[in-house]
Amino acid sequence: SHSRLQAVAKAKEAAESGAPTLFDKIVSRQIPSTVVYEDDKVLAFRDISPQAPVHIIIIPKDRDGLTQLSKAEERHTEILGHLMVTAAVVAKQEGLVDGFRVVVNDGVQGCQSVYHLHLHLLGGRQMNWPPG
Ligand code: C5P
Repeated sequence: SHSRLQAVAKAKEAAESGAPTLFDKIVSRQIPSTVVYEDDKVLAFRDISPQAPVHIIIIPKDRDGLTQLSKAEERHTEILGHLMVTAAVVAKQEGLVDGFRVVVNDGVQGCQSVYHLHLHLLGGRQMNWPPG
């Protein structure tokens, strides 16, 4: 929608200015969330606007320049792997035994709205293909 695209453009601008992201504030507990998994490197919490019965956001606690996947560099290899393993751990914890989906939105055409890299873990219903 039009308002969604406006929010997307605004968030990208803010992230590029180096300001703390919404997700930095979730990590520091300035903004409340329902945390489902946490370790020293990553945080997983329920999406505020769930698109499936299970919709969890998984983020690196330290963004380290990873505003979006297209900014990934060699030094991010370990954290990116850890995020994927966390998706599998959380999917199991949530009882998603019949499958699930992991999504990364990148940039304007990917419809990314928060510029702090994150995985969407979606499940608990049949997913469709192609996505919107
Ligand atoms: O991929 P994208 O950047 O659009 O994903 C951001 C996600 O963060 C959205 O699914 C949105 O619902 C979620 N969100 C949240 N809690 C907030 C703000 C956004 O879970 N306070």
